[in-house]
Amino acid sequence: MKSAFVARLCVWVSLLSMVLASVAFAGESDITLILHDGRIVTVDAGFSIAQAMAVRGNRIVAIGGNEEIRRLKTAGTELLDLEGRMVLPGLIDSHVHACDAAMTEFDHPIPQMDSITDVLNYFGDRAKVLEDGQWIVLQQVFITRLREQRYPTRQELDAIAPQNPAVFRTGPDASLSTLALKLSHIDKDFRVSDGGPGYAEKDPQTGEPTGILRGCNRYIADRDSEKTPTERDRYDRLLTLLKDYSSVGITGICEGDAGEADLQLYQKMLDRGDLPVRVAAQYHIDTIGPIGQIQDNIRRVAQHPLRRGGPMLRIIGIKNYLDGGMLTGSAYMSQPWGVSKVYAITDPNYRGVLFIPRDRLLPIVQTATECGLQYTAHTVGDGAVHALLDVYEEVDRTTPIRNLRHCITHSNFMSPESIDKVSKLGVIPLIQPAWLYLDARTLNMHFGYERLRYFQPLRSIFAAGGIAAGGSDHMQKIGSLRAINPYNPFLGMGTAVTRKAKWYDGQLHPEEAISREQAIRFYTIHCALALFQDEYAGSLEPGKFADFIVLDTDLLTCPEDAIKDTQVLRTYFDGRLVFKR
Ligand SMILES: [Zn+2]
Repeated sequence: MKSAFVARLCVWVSLLSMVLASVAFAGESDITLILHDGRIVTVDAGFSIAQAMAVRGNRIVAIGGNEEIRRLKTAGTELLDLEGRMVLPGLIDSHVHACDAAMTEFDHPIPQMDSITDVLNYFGDRAKVLEDGQWIVLQQVFITRLREQRYPTRQELDAIAPQNPAVFRTGPDASLSTLALKLSHIDKDFRVSDGGPGYAEKDPQTGEPTGILRGCNRYIADRDSEKTPTERDRYDRLLTLLKDYSSVGITGICEGDAGEADLQLYQKMLDRGDLPVRVAAQYHIDTIGPIGQIQDNIRRVAQHPLRRGGPMLRIIGIKNYLDGGMLTGSAYMSQPWGVSKVYAITDPNYRGVLFIPRDRLLPIVQTATECGLQYTAHTVGDGAVHALLDVYEEVDRTTPIRNLRHCITHSNFMSPESIDKVSKLGVIPLIQPAWLYLDARTLNMHFGYERLRYFQPLRSIFAAGGIAAGGSDHMQKIGSLRAINPYNPFLGMGTAVTRKAKWYDGQLHPEEAISREQAIRFYTIHCALALFQDEYAGSLEPGKFADFIVLDTDLLTCPEDAIKDTQVLRTYFDGRLVFKR
């Protein structure tokens, strides 16, 4: 008995010493990887370009010429000959909804829809597989991206799916079938009565609801008709998505409207060693209800354990929704939208929807600032951008905001004044060029070219000394180009450099195009700054984490139109190869 115990102990001791020996061999001091003969774009302060880089474990230890770096080679060093290829810091997407996007097609695939016919076919196909009475809810197919540029009408939805309540929702707005209206108790007499925003459009002649809801989708009484994912399903799909991020060179993201369940999922992934990107989270806070309660909720986020999270996962701030969307005719503009069939706007004075009035926004931003939390809000129209910046300016008078890196999520429509304020206050617009790519056609048709002068005005922001951070607003589906919105960062960079767009001739205000160097900063160090990751990511410098990518295209010399087609050959995250083509 005793000798068996001793024998087992001996086995353990010898195993342990083997482990220790191998640790010593793989080496604290050993250089694990040397990249050489490449064009390593460091994105350091001087935007220097080096030939070689040495990595130890998960950190960069040296960058420089081939000779000096190769001299660092030790017994266990892996050598990677770049053969002249370009290396960039891992790319960062400053605004995604990865947890939601991963689940979009869990129940069934959702095809690409380019027309009303595509949309109605989808409702028809769903009606065939669902039981009568089951809800069909299609989310975030933007009408401005449909050829006809309109909602499916209540009558069309009734005709294609007469026995199923049908809802077509995009952003804050929706179009409902007669059955969906009825089950949601939206009739002639309906009024928004919960103190929140929005309204149901009514026929001016009959007073009946047209089926279009603006800013009050919370009244839709839909019941889920899709299968319920398990915790395991959510985990697996999110991991599949994050691995797809790796395949396009993304090594850091900001979950731009995170809830508790999302954070738990990321935490589990981190605990298991599966997490292939650094995650910064902006925590979702509701802004309806008593202001004291909202402030309490903000203070609670400040106490959340993940506020003290590490470089892999951390809450950086909070996120609200300040206005509607530009794809749905509800962004809050400084001038009237103008009467429009596409956006179903009949009131010539209509300026869009502002969800948080100033007297509520001020204490919300003040509280976040006092708690040391970054504040950001979904803010699309120039009226909303001004409203937010005015509040930032006022809070800044008593509680400086610069170090908190408050953001403006989207910040699509700006003005010379707002560009100026952004740089003065150190506020970071989080901008998604894919929207320019997909939506320039409709916006130009609606607003005319001149009113788009300061649409995503990246060059002006850079020129004013401001910092803008790139991203996608990825919210649906997996696949870097088929997703809504496409999260391929090279499409984003290409669009920011060319200002060229889908179904649109020429360039949209090329005077706002940025240089390639700026486009690279926009997807690396600027995002790292916005996400508070700049001390350890966003550039390739000794001491930083080894998050980097190898490309098939030289972004600094290729034709401008080729930037968007760039392929990632390898993605290294935290010193590990996580993707190889
Ligand atoms: Zn978003």
